[in-house]
Amino acid sequence: MIVLMFTLDYEIYGNGTGSIEDLIVGPTERLLAIADEFGAKVTVFAEVAEFMTMKESHSCRAAIEKVEAQMASAMARGHDVQLHFHPQWMNARPGSDGRWLLDYSEYSMAHLPFGKAVEYLRRGKAYLEELLQRVDPDYVCSAFRAGNWCMVPSGNILRALKTVGIKADSSVFKWGKEQGPHAFYNYDDAYSSFMPWPVDPEDINRRNDGADHILEIPIYTERATFFSMITRKRLAFKRLSTGTRNDVNPEGRNALRVLLNAVCRLHPKKLDFCKLTLPEMKKMLDRVIAKDPYGSLLPICSIGHSKEFRFEDDFRGLLEYVNRRYKDIIQFKTFSQVLKELKRQ
Ligand SMILES: [Zn+2]
Repeated sequence: MIVLMFTLDYEIYGNGTGSIEDLIVGPTERLLAIADEFGAKVTVFAEVAEFMTMKESHSCRAAIEKVEAQMASAMARGHDVQLHFHPQWMNARPGSDGRWLLDYSEYSMAHLPFGKAVEYLRRGKAYLEELLQRVDPDYVCSAFRAGNWCMVPSGNILRALKTVGIKADSSVFKWGKEQGPHAFYNYDDAYSSFMPWPVDPEDINRRNDGADHILEIPIYTERATFFSMITRKRLAFKRLSTGTRNDVNPEGRNALRVLLNAVCRLHPKKLDFCKLTLPEMKKMLDRVIAKDPYGSLLPICSIGHSKEFRFEDDFRGLLEYVNRRYKDIIQFKTFSQVLKELKRQ
């Protein structure tokens, strides 16, 4: 049996711009409505650093109350909420133009001192548990996704996750790389592009069996050529995201070298239910089934972002396809359900 998980990074833009209603509450409501129609389960990875900071600002309080009500409602409807964290929000302050001024010295959780990482994680976990145990007294925040997928170097962050009682991470996507001034990781050597593994306490890429080690449930990823990455949908996202990215790209890079490098190498293509076209998602699922037609419990983790949920028909089409073609092979589950079945919660 293959378990398909829909995980949703729930946040505004990573540079502190954007509307909570347009990028979080509105699209998530539409996503959850479609998921409910098909019995699909969504795990919301809530970026709590921005919520905790914005809540201190009088002008954002009403919007954050809507976010909190939406997370509670999602839980009550059988979905899940887990911890996503962009630490650059913890010292953020409101700018004059409605944009938040972020603290880029704290961009990567993996680069924070151990004590600070523990403090931030503890606050984030407590925020979710305080909110969601009102809906389900047994709710535990037990899974984590790092802001901008930054889990390298791994030692401090893995120790911090364990210290606060987090059992699983879902930040790794095989072949992913980032070498910006604030974010750095390389997942070329990740143990698998789709199968979970207990991680080595010093290197998240390596498998190291141990009952108490953090479990990595990677984001399902395939390798693709530059040209297969170019779809009308991706180009639309490129246009929409111009000027709203994380402001971390190094300046002065040779444009021709960047283009040549992009064309010549293979790229990681995540199972992204917001960015992939419907035919791309169907083909990817067909390949998933071919990988493990008789598996006992193979959790496949797909990803989306609330700010990128613009093509509802593709998501609906994917759920129709699963229900029509793979009803007996694929089940929808939340992260918490999977962790319980794997005896990790
Ligand atoms: Zn994020």
